[in-house]
Amino acid sequence: MIGHLERLKLLFYNLNEVIFQYYENINGFISIFTPKFLILMKQFLFRLFVSLLYISIIYACSALKKENKDVISLTTPEEHGDTTEIYEEEIFPYKASKKILTDLIHTKLEIEPIWNTAELNGKATLTLKPHFYATDSVFIDAKGMEIISLGNGKMNLPFEYKNEKLNIKLDRTYSRNEKFTIEIRYIARPEIYKKEKGEEIGNNKGLFFINPNKEDSTVMPQIWTQGETETNSIWFPTIDAPNIKSTQELFITVEDKYTTLSNGKLIQQTKHKNGTRTDYWKQDLPHAPYLFMFAVGEFRVVKDTYTKQNGQKIDVNYYVEPEWETSAKAIFGETPAMIGYFSKLLGVEFPWDKYHQIVVRDYISGAMENTGAVVFGDFVYKNEKELLDANDQSIIAHELFHHWFGDLVTCESWANLPLNESFANYAEYLWNEHRYGKDYADYELDISTNEYFQEADNGTNHNLIWYNYNTPENMFDRHSYNKGGRVLHMLRNYIGDEAFFLGLKNYLSQNQFKSAEIDQLRLAFEDVTGEDLHWFFDQWFLKKGYPQLSVEYYNSIKNKEVVLTVNQLQDITTSTLFKLPVEVAVYDDAGEHIYKGVIDDLENKLIFPVVGNLKAVVFDHKKSLLAAVDDKKPDEFYTNQFYLTKSFRARYEAILNEQENPAYRQLILDALKDPFWLIRQTAIEKTTFLDELNRFKAMDIIKEMALKDENSSVRTSALQFFMDQNERDELKSLLKVLLNNEKSYTTLQKATSLAIQLSPETAEEILNPLKSSNDKKTILMLTGVLALSEETRYLDYFLELINQNKFKGYDALELLNNFTYYMSTLPIEDQIKAIDVYKKYNEEGNYYAKMYLPQNVFYLIQSIESNEQKDELLIKLKDEYLKQLNDFYKTLEIKE
Ligand SMILES: [Zn+2]
Repeated sequence: MIGHLERLKLLFYNLNEVIFQYYENINGFISIFTPKFLILMKQFLFRLFVSLLYISIIYACSALKKENKDVISLTTPEEHGDTTEIYEEEIFPYKASKKILTDLIHTKLEIEPIWNTAELNGKATLTLKPHFYATDSVFIDAKGMEIISLGNGKMNLPFEYKNEKLNIKLDRTYSRNEKFTIEIRYIARPEIYKKEKGEEIGNNKGLFFINPNKEDSTVMPQIWTQGETETNSIWFPTIDAPNIKSTQELFITVEDKYTTLSNGKLIQQTKHKNGTRTDYWKQDLPHAPYLFMFAVGEFRVVKDTYTKQNGQKIDVNYYVEPEWETSAKAIFGETPAMIGYFSKLLGVEFPWDKYHQIVVRDYISGAMENTGAVVFGDFVYKNEKELLDANDQSIIAHELFHHWFGDLVTCESWANLPLNESFANYAEYLWNEHRYGKDYADYELDISTNEYFQEADNGTNHNLIWYNYNTPENMFDRHSYNKGGRVLHMLRNYIGDEAFFLGLKNYLSQNQFKSAEIDQLRLAFEDVTGEDLHWFFDQWFLKKGYPQLSVEYYNSIKNKEVVLTVNQLQDITTSTLFKLPVEVAVYDDAGEHIYKGVIDDLENKLIFPVVGNLKAVVFDHKKSLLAAVDDKKPDEFYTNQFYLTKSFRARYEAILNEQENPAYRQLILDALKDPFWLIRQTAIEKTTFLDELNRFKAMDIIKEMALKDENSSVRTSALQFFMDQNERDELKSLLKVLLNNEKSYTTLQKATSLAIQLSPETAEEILNPLKSSNDKKTILMLTGVLALSEETRYLDYFLELINQNKFKGYDALELLNNFTYYMSTLPIEDQIKAIDVYKKYNEEGNYYAKMYLPQNVFYLIQSIESNEQKDELLIKLKDEYLKQLNDFYKTLEIKE
């Protein structure tokens, strides 16, 4: 999901503005870095990136369970000086799909959570049959349970409970045409199981009781589950594999005050005399065990509906905490439109009974596509003002698309996870393209692609369909998501929209309610296009790496042609020599010509005719290739392509290609009016290239932008422009307007910061109304302002806020990040106070704050290390403090 790293950038913005710029920059081209900048930042960025990778992974639909030891080793403090280490891929044994001995036809669960012990009383009635071979026994997954009784409804059956499996002896031999039933009464004990397994199962204990005994007055007690990859068998006995499918009934008994949620339809609610109630949820369509879920809490239900093309209405409800009831529609309200859009695009109507979404606390994953009952972490709790800056629609789209790719057709093994995640990832593009336009979709796709490059270059680099992973959790990385989505985008560009979506329709209808492997996807496209697509699927899905191309241009006026020399530079011993169909746009006196070519050798020559003067050549003009391209084209090509092409990236390349000439200066002025906000924002930053006269022209435009641009990042950059230009009077008058009218937190934060910089003497006057705000998000915004102030006098305020402990979830993490950044700017004698705060977080902090405490401590260590003290006493102090911080950091490393 796009939202992951996008969200991250916001979270870490104050922690490290540089990394933010870094991502912005690599989004365009790697070549715009100055080497010095890269060397300086490389070590830290890479480490932070690895950390960020973790957060980004938790936005995946699966839990971040076990840390990949190879990756985490890169972040240990002992290795501070070493930046050259590359992950050596280990080849683990081939991971086959689970052998299906028995079909699980139906699962009926009767459960009752026990809050005070965080356990679950349950009865599972499983309907099964031999898959093919007749058998007199069956294996059922059941992790860490106490089994009360086990039988077939008539008699107890003998069983052995070993290695998290129940090996049950049936009363006789059954053939594949005979169903049989198993009844298991059990107690699920996730806490005890977790204690026993420790690190081995990471964070995921399948069933989570949050604040069950109301020890924390700020957190609404709640229960939720997380089944991917194979953890639902901690709370009900099942055959826990993605190539198993079962229909489902769930009866859950809770105190009457609670709301419940599960898959399927809510059929009935029965109140009992003892103040409890039993809710009956039923799903008639089969799905994989990892998609089963339930949740309990005093959630409010905000109702919405989606109307299918046949006129049938289904419920689309949003389950939120009471204080978020009024924002639920602003957060989730586009869901019905999304369901309609995807149903139409795929030619396959949304297949399930309903589509509910719930937001839970301390969620270990970002969001999870449980069939018809999707779970989100609390980062989606955004008020209307926050939604002006960023929304989570791409994550909503991601989870929704899984209801076709993942829930309807499921990857048959975790090695085939891209059959789920690549599509969900690509759904983000599809929704962005439809809702926000191609420029924005392309922009987000570039970010996503660069994340994959980072992982392939610095982390793991493996086949997309990866049969030799270590644990299934290793599959949830930038390959399965980002690379996979990007490969689908390329396929769509190659075969065309109509063939692409028809191919998907084929794949869905041929494999619905079943599981699939990669070949089935290839065959579905081959059916439609009539082309043997092995070459495409082999190089992208079954081999690793990506093409690294250099492109050189030679304009032969004599021959009236342009010659492109394209070299493949990647190491073909570890990757492969790619076959790359490519479209090249040539612009000359006769206009635009789109030519097709193929790159399939180490060195390739593409020769195209030119009429009159050659104006520009845009290699891969739709920018659809998943390739790192080193484009060696003349400056005037860049300038011309800005005006001649429509693609966002070609325009963006043009403005990033800095030049000292009148054409480039005009380009900057024109780019200030570009339809896409990133180009406008970049144009503001490039105004340093303007001469005085042009800068004067630009100033009027930018003034207008500061007040009226629809994008808050552009308004923010426009304000900074006036600061950089030292146009203090202009800036003051702009701020006067904005401080009263601005709604976006991002812009308001910038405006407040600048106002204080301009007149420090009025700081309190500006800050006090913010401090007394009842809106927690305003207070959070204010901490962002103070974090940049470099003023010791705000330390007490920070400490007070931290002690009040009123920020929950991701908000608490943001406060911690702002605090860390703030501390890094203070004199060493003040920084010393950070360690007590960190210790407090370590003991009492919430889930996310604890999870990212190591990164915060590490950031401060890095910052202190680079602080050159002159005073002898301070040097001593610094060394002593560093030692303490490092010791503390080490204790954090070994903790989860
Ligand atoms: Zn997903």
